[in-house]
Amino acid sequence: MNQSDSSRALQTRIVNPQDDITPGFESFAAPVTRASTVVFPDLATVRGLDWKNDAQWRYGLHATPTSTMLMQRLADIEGGEHALLQPSGLSSISNVYFGLLKAGDDVLIPDNVYSPNRDHGDWLARDFGITARYYDPMIGAGIEALIRPQTKLIWLEAPGSVTMEVPDVPAITAVARKHNVLTAIDNTWSAGLAFKPFDHGVDISVQALTKYQSGGSDVLMGATITRDRDLYLKIKLARMRLGIGVSSDDCSLVLRGLPSMKVRFDAHDRAALSLAQWLKTRSEIAAMLHPAFEDCPGHEFYKRDFTGAGGLFSVVFDERYSPAQIDAFCESLELFALGWSWGGARSLVMPYDIASMRTAASWPYRGTLVRFYIGLEDEADLRADIERALATLA
Ligand SMILES: *Cc1c(COP(=O)(O)O)cnc(C)c1O
Repeated sequence: MNQSDSSRALQTRIVNPQDDITPGFESFAAPVTRASTVVFPDLATVRGLDWKNDAQWRYGLHATPTSTMLMQRLADIEGGEHALLQPSGLSSISNVYFGLLKAGDDVLIPDNVYSPNRDHGDWLARDFGITARYYDPMIGAGIEALIRPQTKLIWLEAPGSVTMEVPDVPAITAVARKHNVLTAIDNTWSAGLAFKPFDHGVDISVQALTKYQSGGSDVLMGATITRDRDLYLKIKLARMRLGIGVSSDDCSLVLRGLPSMKVRFDAHDRAALSLAQWLKTRSEIAAMLHPAFEDCPGHEFYKRDFTGAGGLFSVVFDERYSPAQIDAFCESLELFALGWSWGGARSLVMPYDIASMRTAASWPYRGTLVRFYIGLEDEADLRADIERALATLA
């Protein structure tokens, strides 16, 4: 799909893609092509339109040169062939459901999944005649025992973006393939940079572009990426029927974030690792849930399958601190804002009550979990801020 030279490194292809779409006006900026209607030279062209043909422009909702440029870049980053854009990461998740499932089907969802995905499963089960069942994210090949003839889709999230368990992705996808069950991964945590889902047998990858791809905390968007063309067309058809589209203006914001994404990701990764190493030595912390640390379930799969971690990790505080004390700790941080949507420059923090979010796998910790997103502020300042807030716990 991408026209740039695939013998070059991904980072070079993203920064220097050499596929300017405006002949005669060569610039580094992605042109913003806005359209509702697209006009045709004659009726023979109109009658020859085919929604499956990506080379034809049909309607602004479906694709524009700007959105197509973004789709090509994203497919390249993820190691896929085809990408589709949705107006949020969550709508990418729902597009997968509506593209692939029908009444009577069964879907397996990891217990640690991004919680609106869980709400989606519950909604499908309640109102659409689809059974949604939750599984222990560390189940590995044991997922075979859960597969029924009606099972059509298995979701994965690697790692779960709050509790950070890293599943054995190839073990799960091997079982799924054996039983002809599709697999979809929410790969937002790795941005498609640190984990290549298609090399591990996954069929569909979802990215919340709202996060690292945008990098600006100012745009919402999501993508579904596949290697397989038939799967791509199924998701595309549902997208068309649901009237899902994205604006070229928003696409240009995401395109602007992509060239710097890897250096940002690596900077988040270095600072997060270093702060996590320090936090782990603190007596207030009972467990370090960062996949690069042995405390984190699935650490061995992280070492085997991932090339980096970015800025997001969680800690479990010692159970001697009450949830109210942990709330006060979070609120007393000055450089960490209370917020969910990570991937931008600013650091974030959020406490979670995990036991209330699970049904399949028991949660072994009694203390409160706090998720940190390490932004691009000076690392020593972030550490001093956490150190000062920890002192308020004493
Ligand atoms: C943020 C996020 C989403 C949803 O993205 P939105 O664009 O906010 O809808 C989905 N999955 C994960 C893991 C996320 O972090």
